[in-house]
Amino acid sequence: MKKRILILTGILALGIASHFYINQNYIKKEKKIASQKMISQKVQEKEVEIEEKKDEIKEAVVKVENKYKWNLNDIYNNWSLWEKDLIQMEKMMEEIKEYKGKISENSEIFTKFLKLQEKVDILSYKVYLYPNMKKDLNGGDQKAGENLQRIITLFSQYSTSTAWVTPEILTIPRETMVSWIEKNQDLKPYEFNLMELYRLQGHILDAKSEKLISYYGQYQGAPKSIYSELSTTDIKFGEVEFKDGTKLPMTYGNYSKIMATNLDQGDRKKAFDTHYKTFEDYKNTYGAIYRSSLQRDFAVAQTRNYSSTLEAALEQNNIPTSVYENLIEVAKTNSEPLKRYARLRKEILGLENYHSYDGSIPLVDFQKEYEYDDAKQYVYDSIAPLGQDYSSKMKTAISDGWIDVYESKGKRSGAYSVGVYGVHPYMLMNYNKTLDNVFTLAHELGHTMHTLLSSENQPFATHGYTIFVAEVASTFNERLLLDHMLKNTTDPKEKIALLQQAIRGITGTFYFQSLLADYELQAHRLVEDGKPVTPDVLSKIMSDLFREYYGDSVETDKIMEILWARIPHFFNSPYYVYQYATCFASSSVFYDRITNESYSAKEREEALAKYLTLLKSGGNDNPMNQLKKAGVDLSKRETVEAVTKDLDKLLDQLEEEINLIK
Ligand SMILES: [Zn+2]
Repeated sequence: MKKRILILTGILALGIASHFYINQNYIKKEKKIASQKMISQKVQEKEVEIEEKKDEIKEAVVKVENKYKWNLNDIYNNWSLWEKDLIQMEKMMEEIKEYKGKISENSEIFTKFLKLQEKVDILSYKVYLYPNMKKDLNGGDQKAGENLQRIITLFSQYSTSTAWVTPEILTIPRETMVSWIEKNQDLKPYEFNLMELYRLQGHILDAKSEKLISYYGQYQGAPKSIYSELSTTDIKFGEVEFKDGTKLPMTYGNYSKIMATNLDQGDRKKAFDTHYKTFEDYKNTYGAIYRSSLQRDFAVAQTRNYSSTLEAALEQNNIPTSVYENLIEVAKTNSEPLKRYARLRKEILGLENYHSYDGSIPLVDFQKEYEYDDAKQYVYDSIAPLGQDYSSKMKTAISDGWIDVYESKGKRSGAYSVGVYGVHPYMLMNYNKTLDNVFTLAHELGHTMHTLLSSENQPFATHGYTIFVAEVASTFNERLLLDHMLKNTTDPKEKIALLQQAIRGITGTFYFQSLLADYELQAHRLVEDGKPVTPDVLSKIMSDLFREYYGDSVETDKIMEILWARIPHFFNSPYYVYQYATCFASSSVFYDRITNESYSAKEREEALAKYLTLLKSGGNDNPMNQLKKAGVDLSKRETVEAVTKDLDKLLDQLEEEINLIK
């Protein structure tokens, strides 16, 4: 997971983010997903809150050494320094307003304006993230909560008061802008973002229409908020009594836990049926919410002159729709390794019938605990193939004060990496010594290194990278860690657990997300073609997809087809999940070219150099171009097929290891 900060200031935000429909939130939380981890942030947080309350009495005062905690003094030593920056920022925001009506006059005024705006943007990272991160460490921190609210209100006002910026920039003819940039070196760093504005110009309407549309901004967020209320506040999950007599409500959290740990198939079936029945019970409401979300997307696409909802979603990053179509086509037609894994699991687990609820339990009993300091060392050693410079930067990234390691009272759940511009990246963990957590550490450090390299090598204007490339850096490092740990263990059970971890990455991140992406496209096309959208129609798409992906390797459980109602991403951010799959595919290609010894040493070196250049390039080009420059072309079948072949290889290894312990 990577926490991305999207502050609605600056050219990029005003020009690109704000013209795209709704983004009332200032932060987009992006999640690392394995299929069983598809829990909306909110749901997860709620459950954590509840659990914490229950545990209150048990909670002993655990003293965590400072070296395992964030040192937020690197940002501000105290609130009064924060306050000072806030005041300065407000002052600059006022100054920006004075430029209204003047920025198209000449390149000097325009440059001055951009530089001022940039100063606000730079400062906003620190000013926003300081209270935000304090609150993440302790949800009960009142001061942090209040100051966070202040800053969010300020950003929201600023966003409204600078709504004129993009339209006014676009009154400057493109040719004029090009000649300004040519003659004025100070404008160079902004070139890419400025040209992006012109690229998307055809989708920005005249001032009158834009104003009209803006009245519907909040209304467009209705499906999302209704979904969230239904799924977190109003929903009532049924209770299950297990064989050992324990009773649990089948919430998202409990359900995932049972799926991953309960070794009794009967128990898992009960949990599965009960959890999914809740969504089935509400299917008409979920269907109506989703239908309105689809209708909104279609309305936005038509209003903004896009030929389809898919094009509207992808155009922002200049991703051709063929990339999306290629992905879902290749994943679906290359699902043989996925079926092979299901059959293999069935055999290893000794099950007569294999169901979707059998897909997450471990193949072997492996409970090893990994101390944090060892985990850190593993991750550090694993990235050696990336070279000396990368290693020495990694050393800094894992040093004291950058990672908040352990769980503590009031701390938010999950893990993320966030760059505080002008300071350094920080990572939040809830380290619990499991193998999965060792991989999470490698994953977040992958993001952190990407942030470090981009910030060092790019001007501020282009230091931020898109999600489309973000997960390449993180999954690549996970893959290196797998190699390293496989090499360094002789315990067959550990090897199997490691392989299972890697396989889950491919089945959960690549295949499952492609399946979901396929569903989204089909659902949107219903509306585009004027066809009825009913819960049964949506469920039919899902069940057909399951058949295409899993064939008869997994038994059909009819209730599973309601899955579309329990995926928050469908309701919160349409056409988003495909990026997990494309990133995974890209990462597989890089991994192969850099480590596969069937390539010559020179070829591997060149591949590595290109990969590092990608990590250093932030957001200096459209992501597809960035990847192409690094040698990965996602519009080609072979690129996407690489990951499916990778799975086959891992399955070979798994079979070998299993045979050893038979
Ligand atoms: Zn991530």
